[in-house]
Amino acid sequence: MTLTADWFRLTQLDSRVVSSCAMRIQFPFLQVTTLFIVTSAVCAQQPRVPQSTGRHTTPAHTPAKPEETELWQPVPKVVTPGADCNAPPSDAIVLFDGHNLDEWVSRKDKSPAKWIVADGVLTVNKAVGDIETKRTFLNYQLHLEWKVPENISGSGQARGNSGLFLASPPPGDGGYELQILDSYKNPTYVNGQAGSIYKQSIPLVNPTRKPGEWQVYDVVWTAPIFNADGSLKTSAFVTAFFNGILVQDHFAVKGETQYIGQPFYKKHGAAPLRLQAHGDPSQPISFRNIWVRDLQ
Ligand code: MG
Repeated sequence: MTLTADWFRLTQLDSRVVSSCAMRIQFPFLQVTTLFIVTSAVCAQQPRVPQSTGRHTTPAHTPAKPEETELWQPVPKVVTPGADCNAPPSDAIVLFDGHNLDEWVSRKDKSPAKWIVADGVLTVNKAVGDIETKRTFLNYQLHLEWKVPENISGSGQARGNSGLFLASPPPGDGGYELQILDSYKNPTYVNGQAGSIYKQSIPLVNPTRKPGEWQVYDVVWTAPIFNADGSLKTSAFVTAFFNGILVQDHFAVKGETQYIGQPFYKKHGAAPLRLQAHGDPSQPISFRNIWVRDLQ
């Protein structure tokens, strides 16, 4: 009984103490509670701020504005496109438009190019060798059309072989070859068929048309960059469309293409483009509508 009475008194005392303390803290507690409720209500009325997932961090309490991500400079220059997607746009350098070879020279001695121009078409003259552009290029977009004659003979690499060297620094046969070949039902090693980076990169697909029909290459070339000591800083890259279909997707070129052995780089700067007069005995192929856009 005594224990029960003591416990009752103690409980009453604690109750009074607690009640007294509660009275003393009641007002500030209500203030804090009220402030919290008001703040919550105000925040609930603000637009939802997207959570940042990367480096474009938006302060949690600063609503983003659409203007913050708008750029107004530099304004891209106006380029007038050609009448169709094969025709040169207004800023293109036309390398062959069906009339002459004024933009080309012989590779071996830089004399005027002696391939055959007739009926608006340029045909390989295998007797005089490769031709190259007078101009040199680094980074560019290029358009070129080529045709294997309908009466083509031969097989494998000896059937309509030519090549577009995307850069061909002197001397000799150096450079980076985008293969040209009759690859319409003409088996050969796949890293040497039309649309390949010769012996480096197999084309993603084979969209070759029949002999006698025009084929189209559209290429984006990024030149390699070298260090002062001649070592490679960044490789060349090539993206190529063949008859409008992607065949090389930003391929990191391994070096100058080689017939025998592994590709390798040697330092060079801006270089001419080169067209190959391949030594196989098959009928020579033709070109038309060649233009390039400098991407300096
Ligand atoms: Mg070739």
